[in-house]
This record gives sequence, C-alpha cells and structure tokens, in this order.
Amino acid sequence: MGTFSRHSTRFLMKCPNCGKSWIIVLESRHTNEVAVSRRRQCKLCDHVWGTAEVIVPDEEWGYAEKPRSNGHLKSEFCVKSGMLERLVSA
Ligand SMILES: [Zn+2]
Repeated sequence: MGTFSRHSTRFLMKCPNCGKSWIIVLESRHTNEVAVSRRRQCKLCDHVWGTAEVIVPDEEWGYAEKPRSNGHLKSEFCVKSGMLERLVSA
C-alpha cells in the first residue's frame, strides 16, 4: 500500500497562495476508510486550505519515464496517470 500523501508531499505540497512549503496541519479527519482530510496552514502567509489524501492500491503505483532538465529520461515512482485523473476529478 502506498499513500498519495507520500507522493504529494514530495512533489506537490506547497502553499497555493505563496508557493512556499512551510506548512502545518491544523486538523486531520478520516473521511472514510481510504481518505483523510486535512486542514493545512501556511506559516508564511497564514493561508488555510484543505487537502484530501487517499490510499492508493498497490496496482495503481508504477514507474514512469520522466524527462530531466539535462534531457535524459529517469524512471520515477508515481501513481499511474489514470488514477491521478480520478483523484483530480474527485
Ligand atoms: Zn503561503
């Protein structure tokens, strides 16, 4: 089992207002068996927003080839794109 939070913390978790990543969790709540809702606050600009983290089944994880800045491809462990689309539309 992987959690989407592991992915999002490394790659996506920045303040939507100022883009910095000095973020604290104000509140965590299990929405259901597979999702956790969190309220987060940016310590730099005090912006508060909510995130939902879901458990991603093992079969939805895989390696994808991603281009690096030097032009080479690297394999990166991530959630498969179909799953990401479902998360975004959820
Ligand atoms: Zn901020």
